[in-house]
Amino acid sequence: MSYQKELYVAELAVQRATLLTQKVFHEKAKGTLSKDDKSPVTKGDFGAQALIIQAIRKNFPNDEIVAEEEASELREDKALSAEIWGLVKDIKLEDAESDSLLGGPLPSEEAMLDIIDQGKSAGGPKGRIWALDPIDGTKGFLRGGQYAVCLGLIEDGDVKVGAIGCPNLPVDDAAQLSADIGGQQTDNSGKGVLFAAVKGAGATSRPLSNGALTPSKSISMRPVPDISHAVFCEGVEAGHSSQGDNAAVAQRLGITSPSVRLDSQAKYCSIARGAGDIYLRLPVRQDYQEKIWDHAAGDIIVREAGGQVTDIHGKPLDFSKGRTLAANKGVVAAPKAIQDQVIDAVQVVLKLK
Ligand code: AMP
Ligand code: MG
Repeated sequence: MSYQKELYVAELAVQRATLLTQKVFHEKAKGTLSKDDKSPVTKGDFGAQALIIQAIRKNFPNDEIVAEEEASELREDKALSAEIWGLVKDIKLEDAESDSLLGGPLPSEEAMLDIIDQGKSAGGPKGRIWALDPIDGTKGFLRGGQYAVCLGLIEDGDVKVGAIGCPNLPVDDAAQLSADIGGQQTDNSGKGVLFAAVKGAGATSRPLSNGALTPSKSISMRPVPDISHAVFCEGVEAGHSSQGDNAAVAQRLGITSPSVRLDSQAKYCSIARGAGDIYLRLPVRQDYQEKIWDHAAGDIIVREAGGQVTDIHGKPLDFSKGRTLAANKGVVAAPKAIQDQVIDAVQVVLKLK
């Protein structure tokens, strides 16, 4: 299996959905609701989920989908639902062939709500399952910082394809992570990247566009001859990973420069292109299970770029356990050559050995 069609559809679908998220990003009122777990969801999350599931349904009708959002609150909030429909119905790629491959405009608001609700698969060890996070880093999105549109294909528990749109990362793969990369984005110029990978075929980046896919370049992690000079990144939200433990690990590795903080799977993408080196996501709570849509696409992109992605015990992420990474705790990603050293430091800091 070469997964060429899956890759093409995934990249185009992410690119089209990203157009919708960018519209909302620049609006003051983002139509924010608070979900049961207190996390926010916006017009952008719902709209992007509708567009991407539509594209998957059109091209791979028998595949299952595990997506972050569902439409029950929207069915009660008619005004918000109408606003989202207003956005979704007008989004199209300025390339007729690409747009029709993804399934042209949806017929109605009701069809949009039904499509949003098609991401309820339980996941698991068998079959083809798409993992979708329509806006990863919604808190970053609301703050005006980094966010990502993320789609991965898992087959029999193994991630085969990943595509991630990062509208606020620089196009230039050689641009190093700046300290303010996770902060408020005021200048759009030279930004907007689409990352992708296929198992066994490497990882790429290309500029996001509003039409057909632009030409891609291959990306890889950079060598780290001296680990004390490694650039490590982590999330902005202290509630999502332990910034204290992350810092203690960095210190043990002799890293003196502070972490670079940015929201979303933009972290996986940034280390995959060699703009940074290590991504630490050490648990804040023992009972939290990471969600597969927060990691599937990033995991394959980093591994295909020459990296290793494991949990705090050094175990690969196991996508066969359902909607969550129930068999893993935390995430540690780094170039293969230094991963053991990083895991060692993690284990000392977390007193796992
Ligand atoms: P980040 O942008 O790296 O902070 O990651 C954002 C993701 O963190 C969201 O999509 C949530 O699904 C996830 N999340 C929410 N609560 C937690 C938690 N307690 N630990 C780890 N991840 C979380
Ligand atoms: Mg997310």
